[in-house]
Amino acid sequence: MIVLGLEGTAWNLSAALVDERDVIAEDHSTYVPAKGGIHPREAAQHHAEHMAKVVRSVLSKAREMDRMPEAIAFSQGPGLGPCLRTVATAARALALRFDLPLVGVNHCIAHIEVGKWRTGSRDPAVLYVSGGNSQVLALRRGRYRIFGETLDISVGNALDKFARSVGLSHPGGPKIEELALCAKQYIPLPYTVKGMDFSFSGLSTAATEAARRHELADVCYSLQETAFAMLVEVTERAMAHAEKEEALLVGGVGANRRLGEMLNLMCWERGARFFLPDKGFMGDNGSMIAYTGLIMLKSGVVTPIEQSKVIPLYRPDDVEVTWA
Ligand code: AMP
Ligand code: MG
Repeated sequence: MIVLGLEGTAWNLSAALVDERDVIAEDHSTYVPAKGGIHPREAAQHHAEHMAKVVRSVLSKAREMDRMPEAIAFSQGPGLGPCLRTVATAARALALRFDLPLVGVNHCIAHIEVGKWRTGSRDPAVLYVSGGNSQVLALRRGRYRIFGETLDISVGNALDKFARSVGLSHPGGPKIEELALCAKQYIPLPYTVKGMDFSFSGLSTAATEAARRHELADVCYSLQETAFAMLVEVTERAMAHAEKEEALLVGGVGANRRLGEMLNLMCWERGARFFLPDKGFMGDNGSMIAYTGLIMLKSGVVTPIEQSKVIPLYRPDDVEVTWA
């Protein structure tokens, strides 16, 4: 089966074509804010302007290979309302135009499923860390249950906010990672884990304060160490509770080498296996939507047009996992 997937929950518009075995084609267009963070309406405008181009690009590749899509998948949520609506409109139009089934995909679940597909992980505790979300999840009794999550902003948002406050451009995560390599000392910052949940808002503000008195590299390093230690602590506890022998890291912040290193060490110490997808599958991408749509369809899930409304606060545990 071949599925065309559309992703555009936030900054990255991406279309992809996948079959059971691999990605056949993918193209994307990235919205870069002129200043500050992501502006939802501007991002949606960007997606609307570039939709035809990215869809045409993967369809022309499909035509060349004589492999046309048999279904349309799209990210139904969670995400920014205007962006979601733009993508859903395009997905409905394609499904109607080519008379193909439509599948609405939960964006968080797509990160997890593509991670499992690309790494061979079978039953992991998942750390999902991105610009919009930070969650620790594991599959139990037919759903991805959320064991822990942020009480305020996501870790990616905390990094980006801090970065902006010290004059670094969006997205800040990679720049912080780079600067942290030159650090000479750790500066204590607030470490906030409450039960299985974590909080990043105070940490981001404290880092901004600290940057007035300390070397920027030292603050970047300390911010990473503190935030990532919180995430690793909760992931480890979820593995113990849910009795998982694997950990999987997904989402844009997962591109950070230090975070991967810390999780890898935690897994090694408890005799578990750590899985890290290739960077291209970490941030938001169309392939993850196409692939998840494909396995959902094969398990019998279809989204009728009248049920294809976007869900900006769509939670992964709202979805019954019919394909496991
Ligand atoms: P996503 O929402 O999954 O597309 O991920 C975007 C987020 O990932 C943004 O907050 C980025 O700052 C963050 N990010 C990307 N690369 C890195 C990195 N190397 N280290 C930390 N954060 C990163
Ligand atoms: Mg994402």
